[in-house]
Amino acid sequence: MSLKLYNTLTRTKEDFVPIDPANVRLYVCGPTVYDYAHIGNARPVIVFDVLFRLLRHVYGADHVTYVRNITDVDDKINARAVRDYPGVPPVEAIRTLTETTYGQFQADVAALGCLPPTFTPRATEHVATMVALIERLIARGYAYAAEGHALFHVPAMKAYGALARRSLDDMIAGARVDVAPYKRDPMDFVLWKPSSDDEPGWPSPWGRGRPGWHIECSAMSLDTLITPSGGGFQCDDPLKNTFDIHGGGIDLVFPHHENEIAQTSCALGTPRMANVWMHNGFLQVEGEKMSKSLGNFTTIRDLLADWPGEVLRLTMLRSHYHQPIDWTVRGMEESWRVLDDWYAVTADAGEGAVAPAVLDALADDLNTPKAIAELHGLKQQPAALAATLRMLGFLADTPAAWAARRPAADVDAAAVNALVAARLAARKAKNFAESDRLRDELAALGVTLKDGKDPATGEPVTTWEAKR
Ligand code: AMP
Ligand code: ZN
Repeated sequence: MSLKLYNTLTRTKEDFVPIDPANVRLYVCGPTVYDYAHIGNARPVIVFDVLFRLLRHVYGADHVTYVRNITDVDDKINARAVRDYPGVPPVEAIRTLTETTYGQFQADVAALGCLPPTFTPRATEHVATMVALIERLIARGYAYAAEGHALFHVPAMKAYGALARRSLDDMIAGARVDVAPYKRDPMDFVLWKPSSDDEPGWPSPWGRGRPGWHIECSAMSLDTLITPSGGGFQCDDPLKNTFDIHGGGIDLVFPHHENEIAQTSCALGTPRMANVWMHNGFLQVEGEKMSKSLGNFTTIRDLLADWPGEVLRLTMLRSHYHQPIDWTVRGMEESWRVLDDWYAVTADAGEGAVAPAVLDALADDLNTPKAIAELHGLKQQPAALAATLRMLGFLADTPAAWAARRPAADVDAAAVNALVAARLAARKAKNFAESDRLRDELAALGVTLKDGKDPATGEPVTTWEAKR
């Protein structure tokens, strides 16, 4: 099967050729852990989970390495830890905050049907590699130390901007460049910065400090995908320092990914950090950008209180990952109906094989809308439908557990009892038009009736339950 992926680096859809088919390597930028993840953050997690599943299917489950890092050192984390854990020593507060938040994230994305990645490195466990990379950048003339900082000197790298392909003015605006007296060029970005006693810090040749965001991913991808067995990064052949696929949301193209490329390529002398760069489009809510100030900022956790994770997963995959997605309640309702149908059709399905038409759609740059259209065509083949849905991360429930996920209709029991009694009276009086009307009225309230006889008296009785 030939797999095609759109590559942001070349702006074309290309045939995917792994560097080593026995070990296909994928790195995706993971969460910064200081708060519940929002539904926009779920998009890269679900999209790249589908890619991971597809790669496992094509190359074999043991031949794919998927890394999704945890950013557990960041100024937003420091600020939140001080706010949420007053009186607790900062380093301890930060550890509690990041561990709690990552636990929540793991539970959320598991509920969305995502497989755990092969490795989930934490930035704080890779600081030594970051320091070594920065030292190497300085030694090679791509970076410099100034006032407790280390900075990457952008004009030193001729190919800077190859991923973002923006003008210098655009890049300066996009990077929200800080003017600082110690910078040689306004575009220069921070590799290392000094920490106060309250902030997390590590010893370094530039004083006690902490890494900038971009260097974290250069170090973690190196430690997990290039030299996973340790031994540093002194790889003789620069071409050996390239891995296959790097992913994230479209907002990361610039400056984050551009800067990752700059650091890794210049430190290791490799022409490419990763061969394929993939970016998911943004998610907005009911036609508006999601933001705290608009009050439409929705966490995965909040949605999971009302919607099964598979409903969220399907809603996400009904749009192609490259396009923007408008997240709506209507979309989730529609996905729930579709899943009800799939659960019903596959309830007694036997063992089957994954449908080739669905694989073909996925192999065409993860065309999930097309894949879903193909799934709709599989109703006459329940075994193939079930196998394909499972491969895509659905059907984790039994049919009964799935049905029980619909909340029971919210009904006023006293009012229902009165209507049920009135219907019984109408039946006794043989006023069937009225008893039918009352049954319809009860059905409209979400109530199902069961008529029977009292075993002792033989009198007709009616029991009821709220429909799911
Ligand atoms: P962050 O925690 O902001 O660094 O984001 C984590 C991941 O979620 C990154 O890959 C972002 O590109 C992605 N992301 C953040 N917001 C959205 C959104 N509204 N739609 C799609 N992806 C997003
Ligand atoms: Zn990253």
